[in-house]
Amino acid sequence: MAAPIAIVAAMHEELSALLAQMPDEQRVRIAGRDFWVGHLHGQPVVAVLSRIGKVAAAVTATMLLERFAVGAIVFTGVAGGLAPGVNVGDVVVATQLLQHDLDASPIFPKYEVPLLGLSRFTADAAISDALAGVVEVTLRDPVALVGQEAVDEFGLQSPKVHRGLLVSGDRFVSTAAESEALRLSLPDALAVEMEGAAVAQVCHDYGVPFAAMRTISDRADDEAHGDFARFVAEVASRYSLALVNAWLAGRDAKRA
Ligand code: SAH
Repeated sequence: MAAPIAIVAAMHEELSALLAQMPDEQRVRIAGRDFWVGHLHGQPVVAVLSRIGKVAAAVTATMLLERFAVGAIVFTGVAGGLAPGVNVGDVVVATQLLQHDLDASPIFPKYEVPLLGLSRFTADAAISDALAGVVEVTLRDPVALVGQEAVDEFGLQSPKVHRGLLVSGDRFVSTAAESEALRLSLPDALAVEMEGAAVAQVCHDYGVPFAAMRTISDRADDEAHGDFARFVAEVASRYSLALVNAWLAGRDAKRA
């Protein structure tokens, strides 16, 4: 039997929408988290809310690997856009992930995970390619995805997919000064969030494929906090649901 795929979301709205589609879901509660075990599009799936931050994400990933023996972990959530042109409503599919708040210099180079000799973790190419393909097609019709009202309200007329470096740290980046500092020190970073690189590190240690896709909810600037909650509820949750469904349906079709 195939190892289950883990779908990890940072936000409740995303998970509840997915769970509503898992007819045989069974809840297993460990360490304050609910792991939902079932099937989606004919494939064994474990869905879980990681909670926010690197430690919460790393613990969740470890449990998925140790207790549920998942064969891959896919993270879906939101992020703040950093690079120019990475705008609200776009989606970033990570090729690499780095912890922007990890700094054991001068003993180890800045960003390097001590004793691992690595600062950037590589996302699984096959899963990431498949996700990016699905995002590309799905974003062609933003009105079908989130409705005309949300498209107008959040300016989602022509959302785009970007692929590249995603950075994670235990900070909600919400000032122009801080996002500018990140752009200067990590010029190729596309977006910033709080979990991805931690999960990537755990998956690296276990040799299990990992991928992340993030809907841009803000520009990590002084306005980042403004519409966050509404954007998550009205836009990001619909993106994730549509994208995870399309990706799993595509995998199912390939297996058939
Ligand atoms: N609870 C707060 C904010 C949640 S923290 C609120 O509702 O207002 C933000 C979550 O979204 C984290 O899980 C993180 O991964 C992601 N995120 C979105 N924008 C971010 C940003 N600008 N900086 C860091 N993380 C961001």
